[in-house]
Amino acid sequence: MNAYNKPLPYLDPESRPFWEGAKAHKLLLVQCRSCKTHRFPPTTFCAKCSSGDYDWVEAKGTGKIFSWIVVRHPVPKEVYAAEVPYIVALVALDEGVRMTSNIIDCKPEDVTADMRVSVTFRDVTPEITLPAFKPVKG
Ligand SMILES: [Zn+2]
Repeated sequence: MNAYNKPLPYLDPESRPFWEGAKAHKLLLVQCRSCKTHRFPPTTFCAKCSSGDYDWVEAKGTGKIFSWIVVRHPVPKEVYAAEVPYIVALVALDEGVRMTSNIIDCKPEDVTADMRVSVTFRDVTPEITLPAFKPVKG
């Protein structure tokens, strides 16, 4: 396996549980203990009720494409030349939050608004696993 040469997330105290979940192939979200609202990215306080009490919970891993772009110009070229074209999407998860990710196993011309997608996981280094989404078949 070649060394992964693309940007990797920095695991800070607020995001570390998300990335540890991803490594275990689980998509984790913060859920407010008080009003049960999910939030992503993780924050200390709930934007709906201001509570600071929350739990990390596993998302269903399904949602729909809210918006997307197709990257055709590799920057930096040495790193992304083999990847283009690729899809960067804002996925509206069924829990009500939106998550930026890649859409894989899908041609750029086949992406549509509201297309149903489900999470998949790419183990890119021994420490880091990146969630991505793929179309739900059928
Ligand atoms: Zn709340």
